[in-house]
Amino acid sequence: MKADFYETLGVQKGADEKELKAAFRKLAMQFHPDRNPGDQACEHKFKEIGEAYETLKDPQKRAAYDRFGHAAFENGGMNGGGQGFGAGGFADIFEDIFGDMMGGGRQRRSSGGRERGADLRYNMEITLEEAYAGKTAQIHVPASISCTDCSGSGAKPGTQPVTCSMCGGNGRVRAAQGFFSIERTCPTCHGRGQTIKDPCSKCAGQGRVTEERSLSVNIPAGIEDGTRIRLSNEGEAGLRGGPSGDLYIFLSVKPHEFFQRDGADLYCKVPISMTTAALGGQFEVATLDGTQTRVKVPEGTQNGRQFRLKSKGMPVLRQPNIGDLYIQVAVETPQNLSKRQRELLEEFEQLSSKDNSPQSSGFFARMKDFFESFGE
Ligand SMILES: [Zn+2]
Ligand SMILES: [Zn+2]
Repeated sequence: MKADFYETLGVQKGADEKELKAAFRKLAMQFHPDRNPGDQACEHKFKEIGEAYETLKDPQKRAAYDRFGHAAFENGGMNGGGQGFGAGGFADIFEDIFGDMMGGGRQRRSSGGRERGADLRYNMEITLEEAYAGKTAQIHVPASISCTDCSGSGAKPGTQPVTCSMCGGNGRVRAAQGFFSIERTCPTCHGRGQTIKDPCSKCAGQGRVTEERSLSVNIPAGIEDGTRIRLSNEGEAGLRGGPSGDLYIFLSVKPHEFFQRDGADLYCKVPISMTTAALGGQFEVATLDGTQTRVKVPEGTQNGRQFRLKSKGMPVLRQPNIGDLYIQVAVETPQNLSKRQRELLEEFEQLSSKDNSPQSSGFFARMKDFFESFGE
């Protein structure tokens, strides 16, 4: 019975990377064979520590171990004392466990030499207006598809792939080396278990050909930047009749000149003149539904004030509700004054009282008190 990896390292199950590393270092120093020459027990312990750390430091392996325990690695030649930890044995098992989940070019071998096609990635950029309304996009994917001549088998029409004589269809061959018996991928069929005597001429025995495919993809209204759309079986065709991979569309929404998006809500900064802010007024904003909305600016509006336009934001994916549009005004201080304008503003200044600018008057009065408190 093999010891628990966490117990071997003396850490809690939730230990983070740092804790694992520290525990491993400490134990590895303690049980290192150089420090304990000829001590079989120490050597065994040293190997156990190494194997535990090799497994737990790798998030994927750790996840598999947490889920399946030692069984996750049992057919990988990691027996007993864990000879040769870190050897290639892991990779195959991990593909078996994670192959379906990971996607991303991993190819699973199955009997008959069939291989799952690779997953494809397609980057699509849309405008905010398109994200608002939704759209049907035509995309062209250069992808290999199953060969029609040989139905994907790779063998010349009328012939069949034959079982590999080297490995008897196993895909792996065993060889003895000293005391050990090692198993490796069959060099004749490269692990497929079958060989093709007469390859199909159209696909050169690959079972697939490259063609450009056109797909029509429905982009729903309200879709967000960074969304990944998965189209099952629209990736690369499998080899020799294996299943197709998936096509992933990575969607990004272009930044908009006027609107910033936060979920379903939109934000728009609108510069208004000082006089509009002071006297009151109105302006119009165009919204994504193609209409214009009037915003009334009340007298004495301060810089940064927000106005909410209900249901003028973005639609929510597969829901009937629509977000809001927030208009934030930025009061613009007048520049390049004429002589006459300057005179008027100077006159205005002379006529001004504390009531015209309660915020700044109040602020400076409080600031003065604060300063004077130091003298007390
Ligand atoms: Zn073919
Ligand atoms: Zn073979």
